[in-house]
Order: sequence, then structure tokens, then C-alpha cells
Amino acid sequence: MTATAQQLADVLRPVKHVLLDFDGPVCSVFAGLPAPEVARRLREGLLAAGEQAPAGAEEESDPLALLRLVADARPDLTESTDAALAALETEAVRVGRPTPGGESVLRAAARSGRLVSVVSNNAGVAIEAYLTEHGLNDYVAGVFGRAPGDPSSMKPNPRLLLEAMEVAGAGPGHCIFIGDAARDVEAGGAANIPTIGYANKPGKDAKLAAAGAVVVVDSMQLIADAMVWAMS
Ligand SMILES: [Mg+2]
Repeated sequence: MTATAQQLADVLRPVKHVLLDFDGPVCSVFAGLPAPEVARRLREGLLAAGEQAPAGAEEESDPLALLRLVADARPDLTESTDAALAALETEAVRVGRPTPGGESVLRAAARSGRLVSVVSNNAGVAIEAYLTEHGLNDYVAGVFGRAPGDPSSMKPNPRLLLEAMEVAGAGPGHCIFIGDAARDVEAGGAANIPTIGYANKPGKDAKLAAAGAVVVVDSMQLIADAMVWAMS
């Protein structure tokens, strides 16, 4: 067993509830319908509704950042923009790319008697559509997407993690969060939950470690394997 595998097994041993980020650890949401295209369509929707895109919106290629921007500049448009984005995300996940080992983590959690909640800045409806399409509903106890019309609920805010823990009835000592962004690690820290960093791109490992991830891995399969080892 490598040092990382041993570390993972140690970190996972007390875990009864796995909180799992969606975009990255489970699938690449915008692999088929790219994020800049989704952002462009969101802007187009605003214009079609007779609205001006707020300052800075034209250059924003991250649709979730664009939603925040609209919410800050035009709170009255937050709800409709969020709904439009949720529809685009649902379209995107149909052509999204499953993360290698992501499904294995869901199966390993079930096999090892652990509950999984998906906790994500993406829309819950899109996440549920993906899980249904891939036959994964039975592996997920709860989906905690951003609160519709309230982008302030998104990570690094710990709110969604706290909600997931509350529903699962497991304290932070029995939880682990798996995420691929520094804001995930920050949200985990704010909720008192250790976070495993999934570095799916070069350079992410340093960022995740600096944010305070307990372990950083470059493969979801490693986490799945360690979940089963950690049982023994
Ligand atoms: Mg992510």
C-alpha cells in the first residue's frame, strides 16, 4: 500500500457519511456543452428578456460565476437566471463526461455501508437527471444542490454541507467531503469536515493542499479502493 493509500484508509476509517462534490469527482459537467457556451446562452436569455447583462458579464465564461454576478448586480433577475442556468446544466449533464473512478466511489461507499450525499454548486435538478440517466440513484441518499434563486448558498459557504449532515444525522467526526476546488476545502473547513482533494488537473494539488485538504489524490479510484480497505 502506498503512503497515500494508507493515509486515505486512515482518513476514511471513521467515516459513515461521504459528502461528494459533483462537477469533478462524479462527472465533468461541461465536457460536452462547454461552460463558455452555457454562459453565452445565459446572457442571450437576459437580452431576449429585454434585460441588459450587468457590467463584467460579457467577459465571464464561468456560468456559476455569471449567476453570482447577476445576483449581485440585479437581485430581481436572480431567480429567472438561476432557473435558466438549471435548465442549461440539465442539458449539459446529458453530454457530460463521467469521471473515471467516480462511480466506483459510489459503489464502494454502498459496499462498505457508508451513506453518500452529493453536495454541489450545480442545480439539484441537473444532478438528479445525471444520476437517473446513469442508474446511480440507489447509491445516493441525498442531493444538495445550490438553493434555487440563492447563489449565496454555493460553496465556499458551508450551508449545503451542514444541511446534508443534518439530514444524514452524522456528526462531522463521521463525515468526509470529497471535492476538486479550493472552495470545497474551505467549505469543508467551515463545516468542520475534513476534505479529500481530488486534483484532476495539473497544479490543482498544490492549491488543494494549501487550502487545507487532509489528503490530495489524482484518482477517484484510489478513494474507492481505500474505502474498501478501510473496512478491515
Ligand atoms: Mg467541483
